[in-house]
Amino acid sequence: MDKKKTIMVILDGFDYSFIDRNQNQLTYFSDLKRKGFLAPLESVVPADSIPSWMTIYTGMNPAEHGVLESIDYLDFKKKNHGDYSVIQGHSFWDFLSRKGKKVYVFNPFMAYPAWDINGLMICGPVFEGGEISTNRPELVDIKNMPSIGGMVDHPSDKDMENFYKDTMELSQKQFDVFHRYFKTDDYDFVFLGITTPDRMQHFLWRYTDSGDRTHPKDGRLKDSILNMYKLMEKNVKRIIDDYGDEYNVVVISDHGHGRRCEKTFYINQWLIQNGFIKDKSKKKRMVEFAKNSTFKLLADLHMVENGTKFFKQFAFAHKVKNAYYVFEGSIKKIYAPKFDGCNPFGGIMVDKSFFDSEEDYERTRQQIIDGLMNVKDHDENIMIWVKRREDIYSGDKVANYPDIVYRMKPAYGVDRGLFGNKLFGINAMHEVLSGGHQFIGVIMGNRQDVSSVNSVLNIHKYILGLFQ
Ligand SMILES: [Zn+2]
Repeated sequence: MDKKKTIMVILDGFDYSFIDRNQNQLTYFSDLKRKGFLAPLESVVPADSIPSWMTIYTGMNPAEHGVLESIDYLDFKKKNHGDYSVIQGHSFWDFLSRKGKKVYVFNPFMAYPAWDINGLMICGPVFEGGEISTNRPELVDIKNMPSIGGMVDHPSDKDMENFYKDTMELSQKQFDVFHRYFKTDDYDFVFLGITTPDRMQHFLWRYTDSGDRTHPKDGRLKDSILNMYKLMEKNVKRIIDDYGDEYNVVVISDHGHGRRCEKTFYINQWLIQNGFIKDKSKKKRMVEFAKNSTFKLLADLHMVENGTKFFKQFAFAHKVKNAYYVFEGSIKKIYAPKFDGCNPFGGIMVDKSFFDSEEDYERTRQQIIDGLMNVKDHDENIMIWVKRREDIYSGDKVANYPDIVYRMKPAYGVDRGLFGNKLFGINAMHEVLSGGHQFIGVIMGNRQDVSSVNSVLNIHKYILGLFQ
């Protein structure tokens, strides 16, 4: 018989292929997979937490909700934060709450501060600063709540053992507190968000991956990510064991995780070489060259982390940063905007207002698409696809995407700087941030139809469908 109640969990950045590669160690997950209760789940374009959670909550694709930003751990302070207010009233728990269902929502990333629902909502600030928030302060002991919400600080190599230990403990505390408030009522729908798997994989990846260029040889922390997966496995099992008779249990991730790109593609150099934008002045190229040479040297010496701190003390760093954005003449007509950081997804703006006709604009767009599709590194194509934005998703806010969006193979990331006339370089920041998002996440639980969901685009509908 179909169950009337549902628990949904998001484990941020939980990766399908990691589970697959470690099935001898992750026996409960392997069991689920063998029985058809665990399957891959596609993310959105770009595969980042913010657009993906937004899509999961609301059922809108990213061209409909329009929130495309990523969490930039390397340059957090500079971010313009998107409009998250679109969640309120549009999330699956709002729909269910309006239908008279009792809902309990714990740590929904970005849904902050708490709002009025038929039940209990407990959430943390989106990035930093701000208190834990709830719609039922009389019910919740805020003082003894573990840290929830978004987290952005980044640990140094020296702090990594402590970071690992603290984040494991924090994760377990979040699950424990979730269970404690579960018992405050008889809830029809329950949501739990856990963001620590993403964070841990970003920083700990290189310690655990012997094929990584920056893998330390001393073997410390080599099982840290596997242990994190085991901790999550234990907690997923506990939820299914404790509540699975009464509840549908659906556990998903917003995207996968893996080795972050080690190579970079100099998109602006490519646009210059192909005549789409004018070259930079010699002087600006010199500044860029100096910066990139220094980073390359630091990367060779495994000193990027110290190097960036060192850089920050000088006004020079400021100048170098700004050199990124200064192009001459044609800058506004065609350019590579900030889109997804140093990751495989990239974009190119082609400003229609600079063209005489729609045909001209489309012709140029097509030329860039065709050109990019043929970019080769050592005789191998680097692109998985290059598309006009409206061919990815349709929606009112499709113009929030660059006119052209491309997806490279996972080994490549976008670099908007210049380094001589090179098209490819190494990702010097890999040492600091070695784990990166992958397109395929995971879905699992105690229903076999989880394997037919396929994409986070379908989650909202799937969850509401369980209450039909
Ligand atoms: Zn995420």
